[in-house]
This record gives sequence, structure tokens and C-alpha cells, in this order.
Amino acid sequence: MDPVEVFLRNALAQKGVEDRATRAALKRLRPVMAQIRLLIQDSGVLRLRPDRERLIAAVTGRAAQIIAQEWGQPALAEFREALQPYLADQAQFARDMVESAGGTLSSPGAVAPSSVAATQQALVGGRPLVDQMVLGIPAQAAERLSQFIRLSTGVEPGEVLARYENAVVRKVENTIQATITSGVQATGDLYQMAVYQLEADPAWLEGKLQWTATLDSAVCPTCVGLDGKEYNLGEAGSYWDGQNKIDPHFNCRCYMVPAKWRKRGEERIVDGDDGEKALNFRRSAKVWVRDNPETAREIFGATIGSRLVGSWPDNAWGRRQLERFGPPEVISFNKALKIWQSPAPD
Ligand SMILES: [Zn+2]
Repeated sequence: MDPVEVFLRNALAQKGVEDRATRAALKRLRPVMAQIRLLIQDSGVLRLRPDRERLIAAVTGRAAQIIAQEWGQPALAEFREALQPYLADQAQFARDMVESAGGTLSSPGAVAPSSVAATQQALVGGRPLVDQMVLGIPAQAAERLSQFIRLSTGVEPGEVLARYENAVVRKVENTIQATITSGVQATGDLYQMAVYQLEADPAWLEGKLQWTATLDSAVCPTCVGLDGKEYNLGEAGSYWDGQNKIDPHFNCRCYMVPAKWRKRGEERIVDGDDGEKALNFRRSAKVWVRDNPETAREIFGATIGSRLVGSWPDNAWGRRQLERFGPPEVISFNKALKIWQSPAPD
């Protein structure tokens, strides 16, 4: 099959698992969060009282427990079930990649995907996915609840519900969505990497993998900068522990592919100023960004992006900038990245 199509189908499969797993996890959250709202109201913690600090700690502690037991454990089990066939597909995808790049599988089938192991090994936001779901999300929800309780003291009872929805439920939902999206990506990466390491002919692979970013307006500048960078298996580097990539940020959608696969001149799907297109892997991501000024401004922000592409956008702000400052002073990709990464001035 056409490699671009294989890539597209894989991206679609990933999106499908993310959507289904997120929907299921959020559906399960609803009654749990309703139960916690009642717990808060019934506890009287929203009223000022002498033992309030102790009560806040007790109520939010109990809420974390409820979320862990009634959401965390069952949601994790459900997520693992959804992941199992997906992980098998990811391993197969990596095998197809090796073979389509003229490599051989010296130990085909050596990798047996397990969603239990994957959720223990894959890191999301720096901690194992299983911990994030069973401990991290309940703890973050408790923290949110404690802020909500403090800010809702003396608020009209009718308003408390709306506040609870916005300040607590929606925030917990966002965290869950990000965790699942990152989790699907991270566990899929794990099994692709396992196939490259354990099944591909080492002589063909030569231990070399290439960082590959998903090129669209949502990519982060750091990941664009890393695109194409080569890493050796067993040799640590920046954002690389020697075996797996270290995500520069939450929700990183980058993946590693055998360097030989990219060098064959395969194509990838990119989504720039003109929508989705195929782009040869030989074209550098840094050049692609410059070739797509609108997208570059979304990735870097309007000011840095405009300097990188050498023109202000064609809008009111852009015309004002041109009037006041003339054309932007052009900077290199690496300079743009440096400015973007430097802490913002106060
Ligand atoms: Zn990334």
C-alpha cells in the first residue's frame, strides 16, 4: 500500500481511539462529579465556620477518594480495553514501515502488545499513565475543589452550581481529555519503538531513528526544531533517554521513525496554509514553516512568526505594524525558536 495512505489510516485510527476513549471517560465522570457536588453542599463547607480548614481538607480528601475509586479505576480498565487492539495496530504499523523501507524483520512477532504494561510504562505529563489516571487526576480535582470552595464562600446557592460546572467539572474534563490524548499517543509510540528495537534487523536499522513532528498549526516550535534530528538507540540525547523520546510538552504528537525510512524519500501529510498536502520527508520542517506564513504565525505567535517569514499578516494589525515599523526584521528559524523559548518579560 501507498505509504502516505498507511500513514493517514494510522492517524485516523489514532483519532478514533482518542475520541471513543475520551467520550467514555467523560460519560463516566458526570455522575461522579454530581455526587461530589452534593457532598460539598451537604457538608456545609461552603459556609464560614471555625473548623473550616479542617473540613475543607476532609471534604476534598474524600472527593479525591471517590474520583479515584469510582472514576479512576473503572475508567482505566475501560481505557485499557480500548487500547489493546490499537496497540496491536501500532506494532503492525511499525512492521509495515520497516518492510516498506526495504528493511527486514529479524524477529517478527517478538513484541506482544499489552495495554496493562503500556499504561504502566508510558509517561504522560512526566508520570506513568496509570498513576496519572488513578492518582494524578483525583488529586488535581481535589485541588480545584479546594479553590472552588474558598472562592464560593457566601455566594448565592443558585450561582454555586454554575461555578462548580465551570471551575471544577470543565477543568477536570480538560485534564482527562489531555491525559487520554497523550496516553494514546504515548502508548502507541511505545509499541512502535519496541518493534524497531526488538523486531527489526539491527544491521538495517543501524540503531538510528529520526524525530518526526506532526506538521500543522498546532505543532509547537520546539517540536518543529527537533523534526529530522537523528537519535541512536541506547545513546541518550536531548529529549531522548536512549530508548524512548522524552516529550518536550504535554500532548506532544511527535513520533520516531527509522532514519532509513525517511531517507528513502517517503512522503508525510502536512496541514499548512493550503490545507492538507503530501510533503516529501527530504524537505525540512523548518523550510516548510517558512513556506507557510499563516501557519508559521499560528505556531510562533504573530510577532515572532512574522519575523521568521519576513512579512506582517494581511490584516489590520499587520498593516499597523507595517506603518509603524516597516517590514519585519527577518530572523532565522533557530533565532525564532530561541526567542519563543525564552521566558516572557514581565
Ligand atoms: Zn512534539
